[in-house]
Formats: sequence, structure tokens, C-alpha cells
Amino acid sequence: MDDKNISIQLKPLTAIWTGDALGKFDWKELKASSIIGTFRWWYEKLFSEKTSCCISTKNDRCSLDNKTFFKNILEGKDVDDSLKESGICSACRLFGCTGWSGKIGLIIKVKENKDIELNFIFKKALSNIEKANFLFCLYVVTNYAAIGARTSQGKGVVEVQNKEIFNNQNCDVISLNNKTKENFFFCKIPIEVIGGDEKNPQPKEIAKNIRKIIRRVIDNTKERHEIFGFVSGKERRGSKIFVSNRYEANEKKYELRIWGYDSQKYVNCIIEKLSNENKLDSFKLDIENKKEINLGTILNNYKLLEVKSNE
Ligand SMILES: [Zn+2]
Repeated sequence: MDDKNISIQLKPLTAIWTGDALGKFDWKELKASSIIGTFRWWYEKLFSEKTSCCISTKNDRCSLDNKTFFKNILEGKDVDDSLKESGICSACRLFGCTGWSGKIGLIIKVKENKDIELNFIFKKALSNIEKANFLFCLYVVTNYAAIGARTSQGKGVVEVQNKEIFNNQNCDVISLNNKTKENFFFCKIPIEVIGGDEKNPQPKEIAKNIRKIIRRVIDNTKERHEIFGFVSGKERRGSKIFVSNRYEANEKKYELRIWGYDSQKYVNCIIEKLSNENKLDSFKLDIENKKEINLGTILNNYKLLEVKSNE
């Protein structure tokens, strides 16, 4: 990463969705707004002082009062300090809000082999903390979660091709608080694909089935809607638990990702449920070899990456 941009090369492991309301999907038309929205969401969840700024419909969304802001600038104050003073949260300082266009732009290139290059352009200078936080955000999303839309329904899992971009991070300035560390869980579960052959491969889209099974861990309808989301007329709430489709992790070994926030108390029940319903038509989940990890551990591993690369 230099001062002007950061480019990350991704190999899609499941389909990536940034599609429109008509449900059309085209690799050539991945929408930058949707992809950048993913990173904004994570940045906000990980680092913002506000808990739901960009997705909130309430009055606590950030909005920049230009009059005060420009007055501060004319008086010689620093841009970031002036934004802070105007009550703009860290996510909005980086990604923008009403009255402030943000610091990051994105250009997407889809290559012939369908690999994707995300080139994040820094339109305005990022502080050291912003750079470090943004890079960590990229690391978490690409390694443990998914990008784009419909990530709760299996889309958007990728593999980073230029992993060296994470070698020169500045971990010292990343400060996740303990609540944030504990608020997330991430799980990778190996899957054995049963039957099928090259001519008739087993389906990759299994997230829906898995979700159907794990929804049943919560009997109470209200609570279930709170955790797994719902659509009712114009009201819509996103899921707090995400399940990926199956993908090839390495040489003919398959796995899927499950991750979530504010729902850790259900993780054990979910794992137990999946252990009991181990066989899903054409798949067998290898629950014993699952990798479960929290944000605190991810951060520690990430820091070790830096130590290693400095040797
Ligand atoms: Zn904000």
C-alpha cells in the first residue's frame, strides 16, 4: 500500500453478487458501490464510535455542517480534526456522509480468468490509523467473511492472490476494544462432497439449506427474526449470521464459512445442530475439524504476520 492507493487481487471462490433489483448477474458489471459498501459496513462495525451510522435510518447518521467545517479550515485547522469536531464518526470520515464525499474510491477490474482486482484509490490522504484499520478490515473480510451483497445467502467468498499486501501493516495503531473483539465469531467447516462426478457435479449453492437447518436453533419467532433477519412488507432486517456456499479451499477439499456478530450465544447450538444433521443430501460436514476463531485471535495472528515478514 502506498499513499495513493491499494490494489488487492482476488480469486472468487463462490459467485459474487452486486446485482440489481431484477436479479441480473454479470461478472463484467460488479458494482463498486456494493463492494465498497461491504468494507464500509465492516469498518463501521469494527472501528466507528457509532454503532449503526451508515445503515441507520435514524437521526444519528453523520451529516457535515459545511459552514462550521469551512470556518475551521479557514482558521487553519486540520481537515480530520475539523471533521471530528463536527461529530463525523471514523467510518464516515473515511467513506463519506452527507456533506463529505469521503477519502476512498474504488475501481474494479475483472480479468479474463474472472479474477478480480479491487483498486482502492485514496482521493484524500489517509491517516496512519485509517490506513492500518482499513487494511485490517480488508484482511478480515477477504479471509473470514465475504464481499458484495447477499453474503448471508452464500455469495462473495474470495481468496487473496497478493497476500504480501498484508505484510507491511502497522498493527500498533489498530485498537479493537474488547467488546468488538468478542462481538464477532468466524468458523470454517470442511465438507465432504458425496456422489456426483465431473458431468453431474453436486450443487455449490448450499447456504440456503444450511441456513434452514440452523434457523431452527431459535424457537422464539421474534428472537429468530432478530438474529436471522426478515422481510415483512417494507420492513427488512438483515441477518446477523452469515453462511457461505461451499467452495474449494485447496486441492479438492471443500469448506464453507459461517460468521456473525451479536449472536455468539447461539454458536454452540448451531454447531451442535449441524453435528446432528451432519448429512445434507450430497454433503457431509466435518464438524470435528472445523476452525472456529474470534476477532481477538485474528488480530493476534495478523500481528504475527507482521513480525514474520520483518525477519
Ligand atoms: Zn458516521
